[in-house]
Formats: sequence, structure tokens, C-alpha cells
Amino acid sequence: MNRQESHDDGLVQLSAAVSVVVGENNGRYPSGNSVLVEGAAETALIDPSITVVANGGVEPEVDVIINSHGHEDHMAGNGSFPDARIHVHRDDVPAVRSLDGLLDVYGLEGQIRTDFERQVTEEFHYQGREDVEGFEDGDVFNLGGGVTIEALHLPGHTRGHSGLIIGDVFFLSDIDLTGFGPYYGDAWSDLEQFDQSLQIAREIDARWYVTFHHKGIIDGRDRFIELIDAFRAVIPARHSAMLDYLVEPRTVAEMVANRFVYRPHVEGTLVDTVEQRTAELHLARMIDRGEATEVEPGRFVAS
Ligand SMILES: [Zn+2]
Repeated sequence: MNRQESHDDGLVQLSAAVSVVVGENNGRYPSGNSVLVEGAAETALIDPSITVVANGGVEPEVDVIINSHGHEDHMAGNGSFPDARIHVHRDDVPAVRSLDGLLDVYGLEGQIRTDFERQVTEEFHYQGREDVEGFEDGDVFNLGGGVTIEALHLPGHTRGHSGLIIGDVFFLSDIDLTGFGPYYGDAWSDLEQFDQSLQIAREIDARWYVTFHHKGIIDGRDRFIELIDAFRAVIPARHSAMLDYLVEPRTVAEMVANRFVYRPHVEGTLVDTVEQRTAELHLARMIDRGEATEVEPGRFVAS
């Protein structure tokens, strides 16, 4: 099959085995695009979104849930399939297992932790899964009839963030190719790993590329290359914007207030923590490259 078949229920079929459950608003956060994979023996659902929960599940019955990583929007339906086995990369197991584990992944403390805890439970239906099993890079799920899902560890967004390769479909999850650019603003995020993961992902040859958020389904390799190169270019753009700002000595708090990730009008529980983590990661890169120095404790200036 070489064209997308759309159905009224938001299901887009990409191949005999693979369909995308397109999330509300084309998978814009808080929803996302889940992937349904039907083998001869078993059916897997990757990243059950809040739309899957709102729909009351999927057809046919799901035997296996795979989370690409331990973020709340990718796990909304984890509690809706209590009889399905559940898997995530071993590095993200704590976030799937319990709410405390999830909040640790984000690195939240105090009031922000309490606020976000409420949001994750109420808006994202979070339910911990004690029975979660960890997978590793290269692990293959065999669903029967030649249908397989291969895990590709692509860390940086979280420690365990993974892409999934299903025949000629490559699910990139939160390497989401949006104009916002790469998100590495959590305690478990890493700029250098994200950058490396982008190089690995770029090499994957597929017919369809699917992101969890609103880029959604990307048709063909040429378009994918265009998008991933533009996405990756956001990293050096942020980096040089920060270096320009460091013409005079600045603290991380000043960098957070200046906003390098979000635009000034954006409000959200996590905005400041994301700005802080992102600034710290870029400062570490600058110091490593000899582009900036810490002139006095907590103050940084471009060299
Ligand atoms: Zn995520």
C-alpha cells in the first residue's frame, strides 16, 4: 500500500500492519499520535494518548503497550489496558512504574511538584504500572506474521527515550520535528545525547516517519530530512542567542528570565524549570568548548 487511508475515527492506515490513531488537534500537546501495530498473533499500541482514553480504547484488543519514554502524555492510556503487557526502555522504567518516579524524571520539588502531580493525575489519567518491563536498544517485539517492532534508543529528551521501527514506518516520538525545536529541559534530559540521537535518527531509511505531536505523519525521506535538519538547527540558534546574551556576566536566573526556549507570553507550571535546565546544559557546552567562563561563582560571560 503506498497511500494513506483515512477513516472517520481518526485512524490513518500506513501499511497492512500499522495505523496511526491521530490525536485531537492533530496530536498537539496534551494529546499525541499513537501507533497501532497488528501482527498475526498480537496487537501492540505505542504511546496511548489522552485521545485513546477519550475514545474508550482501540480495536482490536491490545496485547502489548510500548511507551517510547516516560512522559505523561505518552502514558495516558497505560491504565486503560490493565491486561496488556507493558514495556519502556529500562532507563525510563521508574516513570512508568510510579507517580513519584515520573516526578523525579522531571526533577520537580515543592509546590511545582504538587501542582504537576495534580495535572498528571487529573488531565493525563496517570496510573503507575508495577508490572512494567524494561527493554534495551535493538530489542525486537515479534507480533507474528513477520510484523516486528524494533527499539532504537534515542536518549536526550529523557534518558530512555526511544524510537520504534515497524517495517517501513519509523516512529520518532518526541523528536517531534516542530518549529519549537528539541526539548531537553527536564532533569533527565541531555543536550549532547539529544544532538547525537538526531544524527542516528537521520540515518534511518523509512517510507513513513511519524512523530507523536503535530507534525504527525511525514510522507517520504526527502521531507523528513528537510524537517530534521531544520529541527536540529534550533540547537545552535539557541546556543548563539545565549552567547550573545553573555556579552556581560549573567546568572542562570537572568537567563531564565530572558527566555531562550519559550516566548515571553507563554505561561506554564514548568516554564522556568525548563528554561533553567536548558540554560545549564548550554552553559556546560560553552564551558566545554571554551566559549564562556564562570567569572565569579554563578556568573557566566562569553570568552
Ligand atoms: Zn516527552
